[in-house]
Amino acid sequence: MAAGAPTIGVDLGGTNLRVGVVDAGGHVLEDRRVPAPTQADDIVETIAITARELAARNAASVVGIGAAGMVAHDGTIQYAPNLTALVGLPLRARIAALLDMAVAVDNDANVAVLAELAHGVAQGRSDVLLITLGTGIGGGIVTGGRLLRGAHGFAAEIGHFQVDPHGPRCACGQVGHWEAIASGRALGALGRAEAEAGRAPSVLASAGGDPTAITGVHVGAAAVAGEPDAVAILAVYAERVAIGLAGLANIFDPELVIVSGGLVELGDTLLGPVRRSFEGRIEGASRRPGIDIVPAALGEQAGVIGAAVLARALL
Ligand SMILES: [Zn+2]
Repeated sequence: MAAGAPTIGVDLGGTNLRVGVVDAGGHVLEDRRVPAPTQADDIVETIAITARELAARNAASVVGIGAAGMVAHDGTIQYAPNLTALVGLPLRARIAALLDMAVAVDNDANVAVLAELAHGVAQGRSDVLLITLGTGIGGGIVTGGRLLRGAHGFAAEIGHFQVDPHGPRCACGQVGHWEAIASGRALGALGRAEAEAGRAPSVLASAGGDPTAITGVHVGAAAVAGEPDAVAILAVYAERVAIGLAGLANIFDPELVIVSGGLVELGDTLLGPVRRSFEGRIEGASRRPGIDIVPAALGEQAGVIGAAVLARALL
């Protein structure tokens, strides 16, 4: 198969399953989007049927899958709090057997950074840190031009290091992880706490007056609208994002930090305060080149495109 042939990319999230065919230039030629089935056999079958159909029509011969979880080197889903039906499943082997095609599987944030490296904001870069700020926090780390996978495939679980031993419980069960204070879910919790203390009138109003209904989306929208109470909450949140980013930058020395995930839609309303707080926290800031913090370029297509890039290595 020619190196320029299209490849199949599969974005397997906790909510949605997307399968697309992507050309060598990173363009999605066509794609299918369905709610992710809840049973493992149904997920496997849906991926295989859709990939087979798209591959046949577009002369594609390889499949890449980005999955929301910890993916072992052999393509087994080792741990996936949002895809519990797949835990322990040898996803790569199962799909490959059904399709009789070469298949690669990796973590969804890992494939997102591959997408940005090949076709997005990180083209030509070799040391890049990508974070996804959504319900949780995910990460992909490229160092020296190579994706950091670790001994078992589980590297860059950047949401899960402890920043506060007295902090809230994390979705993974541990306490005070970065994700527990700096994810989109944590932004919602911050908004609820402020509203319950009577300090967030506009956020409360945007949630229909019910403090328990406040999510990160309400806080973000009110902050973009310039409501001072929401801007203040977002400043606290941005500082928490910057705490983790500065620590990671001190460890990995990236030339570029890419922010992706749902919260990136807030643009500079979020990234502005994150950049300012980051500058004040990184080691030796006045004696080192600046590190740009930029939004991801590929948006919700990053999963499919990155999985297709992952597959390209199989050609
Ligand atoms: Zn955790």
